[in-house]
Amino acid sequence: MFEKVLIANRGEIACRIAHVLRAHGVASVAVYSEADAEAPHVAAADEAVCIGPPPVSQSYLDQARIIEVALATGAQAVHPGYGLLSENADFARAVAAAGLVFIGPTPDVIDAMGDKVRARQTAAAAGVPVVPGSDGPVTDDDAAAALAEAMGYPVLVKAAAGGGGIGMQQVTKPAKLARALQSCRDRGASSFGNDAVYLEKYIEQPRHIEVQILFDHHGHGVHLFERECTLQRRHQKVIEEAPSPFVARTPGLREGLTAAAMNAARAIGYRNAGTVEFIVSPDGAFYFIEMNTRLQVEHTVSEAITGVDLIGWQLRIAAGEPLTLAQADLAIDGAAIECRLYAEDPDRKFIPQPGPLGAFEAPDLPGVRVDAGVAAHQTVTPYYDPMIAKLIVHGPDRAATIARTREALSAWTIETLTTNRGFLHEVLGTPEVAAADFHTGWLEKYAKGR
Ligand code: ADP
Ligand code: ADP
Ligand code: MG
Repeated sequence: MFEKVLIANRGEIACRIAHVLRAHGVASVAVYSEADAEAPHVAAADEAVCIGPPPVSQSYLDQARIIEVALATGAQAVHPGYGLLSENADFARAVAAAGLVFIGPTPDVIDAMGDKVRARQTAAAAGVPVVPGSDGPVTDDDAAAALAEAMGYPVLVKAAAGGGGIGMQQVTKPAKLARALQSCRDRGASSFGNDAVYLEKYIEQPRHIEVQILFDHHGHGVHLFERECTLQRRHQKVIEEAPSPFVARTPGLREGLTAAAMNAARAIGYRNAGTVEFIVSPDGAFYFIEMNTRLQVEHTVSEAITGVDLIGWQLRIAAGEPLTLAQADLAIDGAAIECRLYAEDPDRKFIPQPGPLGAFEAPDLPGVRVDAGVAAHQTVTPYYDPMIAKLIVHGPDRAATIARTREALSAWTIETLTTNRGFLHEVLGTPEVAAADFHTGWLEKYAKGR
């Protein structure tokens, strides 16, 4: 095992990684921007080094500076968390070139899956069903129009390098296609430095269901069942759960999804933790949409139902240890729900609400875990993602878990800052959530209609 690991991230995930490192007897190094001097992730690590001004381009995305700090502090490995540099193959290469271990898959795999067009081709070649769409990037607008016509509207234009719900546009009629192509190209170029776009058939009223996988360096891998992430706004997950209630009531679906995910992972020689994402249509047909070659925000619900410490395994796998979990030993225990707490105002179009936080105290209830990136009496700055904490609740079954989550949301002390807490509580009280009768557009519509 490593003796010291640098955490190239901030917020709740950096805190969580620091705690896991401590539990494994590994020393931790945090990096932080000038805006984060008081942030909990700084206190959570054994050492912390300021790496620059608040903008991420001058701090958390400064690859050279982060590697310099890793070398100077004697760290042997770098954990990238999620977002930021976690899916940056150049960073993974630079880390390795500096003689350090990047905790994640190989740079080539990150590249292969980071380009969503290549990822589609790889998945299809492995026999995994992909959403009907363009074979490669769309460069010619007339060809795109012909393909959209052949597939039938609505279609989805997607940036090949997109992520976090950015660079994606639904098109309902031919007259709007050219503009959508251009706008996704622009967005891809400005947000991800890549203007390639592709087309997919827009699957109507679908669910987003994904499979967590874990592979070691010796060819052994397991899946940790599925997560349902259908409750989204702007293509971004808000509430996630495991197992998926839709999978649970659809015969054969779990077997199909998990086998497809394992095939996709094996086809590329995947290592470490990853997630294969699928769109599932109401008739139970499923289609690969992308693979995230990193830990995901919602990995916590899989940990809750399986009792597996995913970050602990990420470390052990990266250190070369064999994965000793066998598929037959893994089972689903009850149900788990994660709510993303955002500093935002649900009554004013969810605009971010940075500002001072007063009292902030996690509810002390059984089966409740809070992963927070902020602490009481600190200020939430406008520089980073407005997600400030996650509430993870585990219960014996789905109904009990929903009830417990609502109770925990009410009991959570969050003073002065405006958040989506009340919105989460309200959503979890709807008959649609109780019956798991929703699709990826449902929450958005619900939010607009309230
Ligand atoms: P996840 O399921 O991990 O959230 P996504 O593909 O939805 O995966 O998001 C990709 C990454 O973008 C995430 O790792 C997350 O850290 C980051 N992200 C999420 N929300 C935002 C946001 N509002 N702005 C910028 N980055 C974000
Ligand atoms: P990102 O990289 O931003 O996470 P994804 O390709 O994973 O992008 O898609 C994000 C979300 O967009 C999905 O969870 C789903 O809600 C929606 N989506 C993506 N592809 C399709 C599709 N072909 N049909 C319908 N909805 C889709
Ligand atoms: Mg995705």
